[in-house]
Amino acid sequence: MFQTFTASADPSVAAPRIARLRALMAAQKIDAFLVPRADEHQGEYVPPSAERLRWLTGFSGSAGMAAIAAKPAALFVDGRYTIQAAQECDARLFEFPGIARAKLAEWLTAHLGKGAVVGFDPWLHTAGEIRRLEAQLAPKGLKLKPVRNLVDRAWGKERPAAPQNPVILHPLKKAGRAAEKKIADVQKRLQADGQSHAVLTLPDSLCWLFNMRGSDIAHNPVVLAFAIVPAAGKPELFIDGVKLSKDVRRELEGVAALSEPGELSARIAEIKAAGKPVRLDPETAAFALARGLGAKVVSAGADPCIGLKAIKNAAEIAGARKAHIRDGAALIRYLAWLETAAASGKLDEISAVRKLEEMRAATKHLREISFDTISGSGPHGAIVHYRVTEATNRLIGKGELFLLDSGAQYDDGTTDITRTIAIGTPSAEMKERATLVLKGHIAIAMARFPKGTRGIDLDPFARRALWQHGLDYDHGTGHGVGSYLSVHEGPQSISRAGMVPLEPGMICSNEPGYYKAGAYGIRIENLVLVTEAATPEGGERPMMGFETLTLVPIDRRLVARELLTKEERVWLNAYHARLREVIGAELIGETDVLKWLHTATQPV
Ligand code: ZN
Ligand code: ZN
Repeated sequence: MFQTFTASADPSVAAPRIARLRALMAAQKIDAFLVPRADEHQGEYVPPSAERLRWLTGFSGSAGMAAIAAKPAALFVDGRYTIQAAQECDARLFEFPGIARAKLAEWLTAHLGKGAVVGFDPWLHTAGEIRRLEAQLAPKGLKLKPVRNLVDRAWGKERPAAPQNPVILHPLKKAGRAAEKKIADVQKRLQADGQSHAVLTLPDSLCWLFNMRGSDIAHNPVVLAFAIVPAAGKPELFIDGVKLSKDVRRELEGVAALSEPGELSARIAEIKAAGKPVRLDPETAAFALARGLGAKVVSAGADPCIGLKAIKNAAEIAGARKAHIRDGAALIRYLAWLETAAASGKLDEISAVRKLEEMRAATKHLREISFDTISGSGPHGAIVHYRVTEATNRLIGKGELFLLDSGAQYDDGTTDITRTIAIGTPSAEMKERATLVLKGHIAIAMARFPKGTRGIDLDPFARRALWQHGLDYDHGTGHGVGSYLSVHEGPQSISRAGMVPLEPGMICSNEPGYYKAGAYGIRIENLVLVTEAATPEGGERPMMGFETLTLVPIDRRLVARELLTKEERVWLNAYHARLREVIGAELIGETDVLKWLHTATQPV
């Protein structure tokens, strides 16, 4: 229903497409053309009409960029996608130099002569990205040139149409704050910073600000649109009118003036002419907008919605708790089913995903899954961003670990949970490593920290037990999560990049892991809410802590009791007792599931 399992495109389709692109480049005297995996809104996901990188190269990952020169071509991907890129792309067509941020300029300089022209679509790169690239290329005599997208011309009639899905309103009861009030909050910020307007381009910012939702992008309940918010008065929302029913239009017109997206450029020119400072986020807004406003007018500043949206209000927090109870019940029904289904040795990764969707859909509240489920058995569990397809699908075998990372979009909250399940009897090594991961998970769950603590400060808590054993994992410990919005949102994170102080009301994931290439993967992920914590007796300073929102048993068969401290055992047993009580109440009458839950939550 929600996830598709089609295998990657045959790498041989790329050659004629690249040849078509090169012919267009030659006609315009462009020596290289950049093809990022991005759309005009710079979100994490893009609609099919913006899957240019995938169409051209075959690469289906969620981040990357191609540079196509007259002869060589390169695909730039990060460490998560090295193996996938090599599998999906024709190695005779592409080089794989590394990450674009680090290697793009170097590669272009090495392959192009002085005076060469590098073409790019000004709507698909941020202002910051182009400024940095220009600073690297100019000293080498290479020129950057904004052009109309050549891939779109090569793609031609086969290119899917832009999405025009209906907009729905996010009711005040769930949003917790009226759009007028949120707009006033943003305007206060603009007035304080002396800016006349803010230009907003991030779909989840717009959806939060105007209390609307949509389905223009898979798994993200967002609407693709733009907005200009003045320091005082009504904002302008640039949105395809086809997406609006009469009722929705009337409601939105109450808080914003509505225009078609095609009118945005003309409005930008008018604002430029007024000559007052305009707030634009150089890391998220398209270069085309920065160019349209001009350097004199642009006042660089983060999208003001990002920080406001991250701190959930009481209604959003209540919604998150409810969503997690509903999701927990679905997951527990699923895990009870899995125990029997996997024992046969005939269950495969795709069937496991389908059944999980079915269980979530049966709650009758499921709007979407929040991302493609990672359903990795045995060695597939060690591929952090594994996406099962018909070509990779494998049986979930006995004696293996099954890593399942999934999430749901409900209208009251977004969930994201990973459980690692022992199928049959796990090895002593699996058990030991799973317990080290669990120790890291508990360290975050129990953490107390003062005001000003950033995610980077807490990240080592989750790694300490692994580090002591000479082990680690190559991803962050936690990301921010939206409220019926993107499953990945900033500005906070629990990671080496987490420079934003945590504040009560923020929701993060807590997901340490361990991966043994070619063998198995382990990850334990719960969502946590930052809260004010009670000061312990004798304590002197106020502290914050986390409330765990996710309520699903952690596999006891993977717990080596002797490796846990007493405190850790107390945490685990209390977590299981709490969820047995809370979710048990949702499962009344479901005898088999309750029986499974009872066993799964026994104290260790
Ligand atoms: Zn997850
Ligand atoms: Zn996550």
